[in-house]
Amino acid sequence: MAHICKICGEVEKNDLWGDELKNSLEKEQLCFICNHWKRQHELDKERGEHNWAVVNGNHYVLLPHKDSGFRGFDGHMVSVKFYDGTVKKCDNLWHQGEINHPYWRKLMPDNAEIDWNP
Ligand SMILES: [Zn+2]
Repeated sequence: MAHICKICGEVEKNDLWGDELKNSLEKEQLCFICNHWKRQHELDKERGEHNWAVVNGNHYVLLPHKDSGFRGFDGHMVSVKFYDGTVKKCDNLWHQGEINHPYWRKLMPDNAEIDWNP
């Protein structure tokens, strides 16, 4: 059954998801997108400081270098400059999307800039 997201007011139709996700969205009264940001916000605490960044409302995760397998942005090296002065080079950066709503923007405000060609 459809419900209204308590954060953004969008109708969550619940017709695309498996039972587990559907039940969780209904219970929390969230849409799929807001649930995504709730999860990212929780994960950021586990990831720890300087292992994630919000740049112009876009959320990124900085994963460690690895020699094989998939790397974020195809292994392109970037330099992440956090507002607290910390600079981290990263060749395994992942983008989780643009934060959709002021509620989440406020919880996850911009905290860095990215130099895409350091
Ligand atoms: Zn929502």
